Amino acid sequence: MDRRDFVFLMCLGGLGLFIRSKDLAVSVANAARLTRIRVFSVKEGDYIMTDKVVKTEAEWKKILSPEQFKILRKKGTERAFTGKYWDNKEEGVYRCAGCDNDLFSSEAKFKSGTGWPSYKEPVAEENVGIEDDYSFFTRRTEVHCARCEGHLGHIFEDGPPPTGLRYCINGNALDFAKKESI
Ligand SMILES: [Zn+2]
Repeated sequence: MDRRDFVFLMCLGGLGLFIRSKDLAVSVANAARLTRIRVFSVKEGDYIMTDKVVKTEAEWKKILSPEQFKILRKKGTERAFTGKYWDNKEEGVYRCAGCDNDLFSSEAKFKSGTGWPSYKEPVAEENVGIEDDYSFFTRRTEVHCARCEGHLGHIFEDGPPPTGLRYCINGNALDFAKKESI
């Protein structure tokens, strides 16, 4: 192999590396795009695209209170009548305390007598996620925030019409924005 061949081979190798790193950059960008989700924004009155919120436990601990962390990140449950909003009757929207995702409208809230804020439906199906929960020797439907996957509460089938559903939510998993401030 003379010097010219060597230079040629080096260039080929360099080109290969360049192409591979470009592929890698594209796949990283694709992965980032996959974490974008479509949710309903009460403020916009329409669906928007937004990034999912992914944080480490240490990062969550910095922005959440110990009670919020226990519920949202560890699937905890506040004691009845001790959390926020179970008795709130103001008009507005209830958002995720972890990521500000709109979750429930005051229009969907009803008096359940359980001591937890209860809603017949979320602002949109896309804004929440559900999962079977087999803890405590029973099958329940767990509901979480679609944006940060923070645990919110459970869904029961004894709600008022038309949905017949009761979204039983930990008040400490929520923040409330009054109608006039939205
Ligand atoms: Zn959230």
